[in-house]
Amino acid sequence: MAAWPAVDSDDGTEQVGADPRPLRFAIVGAGMAGIMAAVRLREAGLGDFTVYEKADRLGGTWRDNTYPGLACDVPSHLYSYSFALNPDWSHLFSPGGEILAYLESVAQRFDVVRSIRFGDEVVRCEFRHGRWHLDTAAGVHDVVDVVIAATGVLHHPRLPDIAGLDSFGGAMFHSARWDHAVPLDGSRIGIVGTGSTAVQIVSAVVDRVARLTLFQRTAQWVMPAANPPFTEEQREEFRRDPGTVTELHANLAQLFDGFSGAVVDAESPQMKHIEDACRANLEGNVADAGLRERLRPDYRAGCKRLIVAPDFYRAIQQPNAVLVTDAIEQVERGGVRTADGRLHELDVLVLATGFKVDAFVRPMVVTGRGGASLDRAWAARPEAYLSISVPDFPNFFMLNGPNGPVGNFSLIQVAELQLGYILQLVECLRRGDCREISPTHEALTTFEAARVAAAAKTVWATGCRSWYLDDRGVPAAWPWPFGRFRQEMEAPRLDAYDMV
Ligand SMILES: Cc1cc2nc3c(=O)[nH]c(=O)nc-3n(C[C@H](O)[C@H](O)[C@H](O)COP(=O)(O)OP(=O)(O)OC[C@H]3O[C@@H](n4cnc5c(N)ncnc54)[C@H](O)[C@@H]3O)c2cc1C
Repeated sequence: MAAWPAVDSDDGTEQVGADPRPLRFAIVGAGMAGIMAAVRLREAGLGDFTVYEKADRLGGTWRDNTYPGLACDVPSHLYSYSFALNPDWSHLFSPGGEILAYLESVAQRFDVVRSIRFGDEVVRCEFRHGRWHLDTAAGVHDVVDVVIAATGVLHHPRLPDIAGLDSFGGAMFHSARWDHAVPLDGSRIGIVGTGSTAVQIVSAVVDRVARLTLFQRTAQWVMPAANPPFTEEQREEFRRDPGTVTELHANLAQLFDGFSGAVVDAESPQMKHIEDACRANLEGNVADAGLRERLRPDYRAGCKRLIVAPDFYRAIQQPNAVLVTDAIEQVERGGVRTADGRLHELDVLVLATGFKVDAFVRPMVVTGRGGASLDRAWAARPEAYLSISVPDFPNFFMLNGPNGPVGNFSLIQVAELQLGYILQLVECLRRGDCREISPTHEALTTFEAARVAAAAKTVWATGCRSWYLDDRGVPAAWPWPFGRFRQEMEAPRLDAYDMV
């Protein structure tokens, strides 16, 4: 084996090390994070990996969600890989199909596709004799040194617990499983839910359907944001001078760092600005006083994931749009019956009811050192040190894992920073500092205590029901400014780790 080049030791002196340990990796999931991990591993000279993807196409979120109106709600030039900025985005917030095409083009360009095993779900990961043994649904067995779980957060659709759901006589589907064979033009469509997805669907379909009924359990604050297209001249300029795209990416990152600072400090002046903008949007753009009050949330803006939408209020004020605020009693063959006894007749029922946000790597069965079960470790709720790793599960790292940064900024940035951090832990393995690395129980306990204490000061904890809140009502999120996350991701504190 070739000698390994000089490396820096812990005390800063340069050593000519022994041969590096050859490492084999499994990346589970070929969504945005898995593709990025593959690019970065290969770039770091760690090319011995397989990406397992249970679907027959890459793209994760952007493959599964194809509903009308789907677009990112952070600017596209921020929702881009830092190593593959894109001069060709069509809009400030580009449509989902374009994002999927972008992920596919990056995977092609960086030669990731040949390393993906499509249509094969990893069902089991077991740590035995210092290595991870993976089993897939197709019967493949792989033995690797390191697992990078990029299995997604908003991935498993959550169906609402509504009586009679199965008795509906029309077409019914979850927003992440849109049935494009169902005709919308001239139909009577009902949408359950009022999150970002529902709002995007309402705006996109209201002008096509005979009647649109939006079933609202909770009103939402809406941050106004125009979605202008980039002109051909602008895109030509981006292509000619890639520096301008880099600068745009950096400026947007800075702007959204500021936003993250606002939501984690409920009393900050920036948070007040956001609330004022949302209130002015509602006051200024909804003419009917009765409708306006029914659309007015009774909690603070930002407490639930802030909705960024250019024209939701225009859409919901169309003559064929109906906002229903009475609770849903049951679904019947002909439509949805509400608590006031009314039957809202429908041809199509869309469940824009979100995702099971506490699944993370599950239902994959993960067994760590000494038979430790991830399901048991997470019996109360999922926890991970810095949202990346779990005690007793050595060399197992998650991207977009539990309690990581959420809010209206780019999860691409989050995953890239996490991967940079993970690569530094991997370097400890490669250099031979240790064969197994996992956070100590103490590190996780201390981190969690600080996280829960800080979460109390965030706007997410100011009194609303949201998917950010765990079973205790604690925001399941990174409760500090994004700058602190960046800082933490710069270099691991190795005293937080068991290095065996
Ligand atoms: C409608 C919608 C809009 C969004 N908009 C934004 C936005 O504007 N900005 C933003 O930052 N984020 C947004 N998000 C969040 C979005 O999920 C992330 O930005 C990002 O796409 C997550 O990428 P990921 O690779 O971590 O997970 P995913 O995209 O969920 O990919 C996970 C992949 O892993 C595969 N997989 C899972 N388990 C296994 C297994 N056991 N074996 C094999 N394969 C497996 C899945 O099939 C999937 O392909 C949005 C999410 C949704 C649902």
